[in-house]
Amino acid sequence: MAIEGTRIIHAVMERSRIRESKGIIPIFGVYLSLFSVHYYNRINFNFEKKLGPSREAEAESLLIKAAQECGYATFQGILNSWEWDEIVKPMIDCKEDQILGFVEVAVAFGWGDLKVQKLIPDEELVIRVGDSYEATGFLKNYGHANRGKCFMLRGVVGAFMDLLYGESYPDGCFTFLADEPLCRAKGDSYCEFIARKPPHRSPP
Ligand SMILES: [Zn+2]
Repeated sequence: MAIEGTRIIHAVMERSRIRESKGIIPIFGVYLSLFSVHYYNRINFNFEKKLGPSREAEAESLLIKAAQECGYATFQGILNSWEWDEIVKPMIDCKEDQILGFVEVAVAFGWGDLKVQKLIPDEELVIRVGDSYEATGFLKNYGHANRGKCFMLRGVVGAFMDLLYGESYPDGCFTFLADEPLCRAKGDSYCEFIARKPPHRSPP
């Protein structure tokens, strides 16, 4: 059975009507909230600006790692939720279908129009996104970038592979790392993320 994204989106829409007094949405085993993407973008990109051009790579790495750890823990919670068991699991035929389930949950959460382009088990995942809010926010506030700016999605794509093919939770985070060779923030027509295992470093 194929993964039906609309069923997942409808379930998230239906259940996200339930809010706690602080606006927290308890769904898929995790706590979610409605969050302004402008605010998120300002925090991230201002952090990068504050560190300055000489530390741009360091800022980028920290923001991606934060997103990957968050994605890893969040989707582990989702995998163990009753909603996953009830809604998504019946549509899963093989291990790799879990990635399609993750992607549809991410779409339902409003993270973008993620589409899997390629999945080589335990090796490579390619995901394309046409409407990343990070790219949109960067372009609007800072103009064209010279490198990919979608740090949250980059971390999350790595986390998807970590959960499937890394060591058991919580030891598998950063087994995979994602690059973003194409990004709308630098003029490409969509963003593309490629998660692979980083090359092994030789011992010092
Ligand atoms: Zn991008």
